[in-house]
Amino acid sequence: METIVNILSTRYITHNVKQFRLQKPAGFSFTPGQATELSVNRPGWKDKKNPFTFTSLTDDPYLEFTIKIYPDSDEGVTNQLSKLAVGDELILRDAWGAIEYKGPGYFIAGGAGITPFIAILRYLNKQGKLAGNKLFFSNKTDKDIILADELKSMLGPEAVFLISGQKDSVHDTRRIDETFLKAEVSDFTKHFYVCGPDAMVEQINSILARLGASADLVVFER
Ligand SMILES: Cc1cc2nc3c(=O)[nH]c(=O)nc-3n(C[C@H](O)[C@H](O)[C@H](O)COP(=O)(O)OP(=O)(O)OC[C@H]3O[C@@H](n4cnc5c(N)ncnc54)[C@H](O)[C@@H]3O)c2cc1C
Repeated sequence: METIVNILSTRYITHNVKQFRLQKPAGFSFTPGQATELSVNRPGWKDKKNPFTFTSLTDDPYLEFTIKIYPDSDEGVTNQLSKLAVGDELILRDAWGAIEYKGPGYFIAGGAGITPFIAILRYLNKQGKLAGNKLFFSNKTDKDIILADELKSMLGPEAVFLISGQKDSVHDTRRIDETFLKAEVSDFTKHFYVCGPDAMVEQINSILARLGASADLVVFER
């Protein structure tokens, strides 16, 4: 089903990630980790449907999305989204499963691949059920880390930030490879949730398979 919803607020939460809060239609529901396809309700854009993940809590009175903007892409939906303001309209569709929490384990995210985990971790935090979960969150530079403070305040030392492209980073600069996982994972029988760019998800999945673990994967393309 398609519903037209208004933008209630927008704000940049990093230099290139914008949070959008939208009207929540009565009765609309989703589970943490699910996504939907959004379009901009303007001529020429209505049929461009791109997937984005809900980051609000299921009982928040609004719907929230956390979206990395690609300003270099004139034909791109996120560039168009970045130009919208309060009161502008989006087309919202039904929620569908991307990734689902099945029990304590390891969350491994790259860049905007953190979004399904924001939803799940916020939900678990609210229920007081975060124990036993650990996050490895990889980004190019320190300033790319989405919601670093919130993730640290929820998970404390169980939120580990990894930086791949900044030598003077204040964070861990190791790559998430086999050596890293062998050093950092104490239990390969726990759940693994992996979300990020294609190459990262593929690589981590094959390492986990070699190490005897199985993972739930979401590919965020490129
Ligand atoms: C299930 C799911 C959930 C998602 N949830 C989120 C979310 O919550 N937040 C979020 O930020 N993202 C999310 N994504 C990713 C998001 O859908 C895409 O990043 C977004 O649709 C890109 O839109 P765009 O039209 O602006 O970008 P595009 O026009 O596709 O461009 C994106 C980037 O790729 C480059 N590019 C374009 N075409 C090519 C090409 N042929 N070869 C190489 N590079 C190219 C562009 O220059 C630009 O830098 C999700 C994806 C999936 C599958």
